[in-house]
Amino acid sequence: MLRDMDSREYNLIGLQMLGKRLNETHPQKEIIIAKAKAAKAGLHGERKISEVFEKYTFPFEYLLVENIGLNSNGYFQMDAIFLTPYFLVILESKNINGKLFFKQNPAMLERETAEGKIDVFESPEIQLSRNIYLLQEWLGKQVMTIPIHGVIVLSNPKVRVIEPPKKHSAILPQTIPVYLRNLPRENVYFDSGDMEKFCSQIKVGQQAYIPFPMCVRWGINPEDLRSGVCCENCNFHGMIKRKSGWICPSCGHFDKFAHEKAIRDWFMLISDTITNKQCRTFLHLESSEIAHRLLQSMNLIQTGTSRNRKYKWVW
Ligand SMILES: [Zn+2]
Repeated sequence: MLRDMDSREYNLIGLQMLGKRLNETHPQKEIIIAKAKAAKAGLHGERKISEVFEKYTFPFEYLLVENIGLNSNGYFQMDAIFLTPYFLVILESKNINGKLFFKQNPAMLERETAEGKIDVFESPEIQLSRNIYLLQEWLGKQVMTIPIHGVIVLSNPKVRVIEPPKKHSAILPQTIPVYLRNLPRENVYFDSGDMEKFCSQIKVGQQAYIPFPMCVRWGINPEDLRSGVCCENCNFHGMIKRKSGWICPSCGHFDKFAHEKAIRDWFMLISDTITNKQCRTFLHLESSEIAHRLLQSMNLIQTGTSRNRKYKWVW
């Protein structure tokens, strides 16, 4: 159902579903919704980078690797890496609109919105410096060495830089090709074999980071979530089971497979296993036979027998 997604997409969908199910009055509701918005903007920014590389080619050997998660003295993520025989560039995308002030001492990013509101973000310069350092460490472990540059890509068209960063450049997506072409290419550090080795090592080191279950990750009590099968049409929680599917008492929408989304929400938000009883409570079902049939239909991994049976979902 959710196969072939990367860790950032998992995180986005997890936050969105958590935001949807969290009770209106929960103190973390606003934070979760804000985090989901930021995750969505982040993904959008990454796609902007991909689009640029789809349109341009470069007059030298290069490789682009996107959305990388690695472990070296801690887990770190990079939006994109541009590798050539001469240098490597980490591209860090920021999809933020408004007027930007890259502040120093202490380093932070301030944004003034069109309405004059000031927001503060973690400094992308610090983020980039940390990633450069961690990637250097990681390369050292592979006995590889190459100059590493970092650049901040401002992917939102409604951005204006008032106070530019000092340590790294901030560029717009359309100027990525010019920026990359102008970097010095005097010394060759990687031959074709090294380029390939780098790519295969990255693949080996890639950690598919699964942020589920979100309640554990965010310290939220599952009892603070709204249970019930959600109506896709009107967002009502508590569709009612009929013989051949689910009906929404609020808008009349009918959905044969609405339970699949609810059970997926359970695995994403609450636990990686579910029992028949938990399923009945979460889906508002009375019949254990129906719960049994629904769970059996979902190709889940089963452990234990009869009363102790648990169903497991593997991401
Ligand atoms: Zn409805």
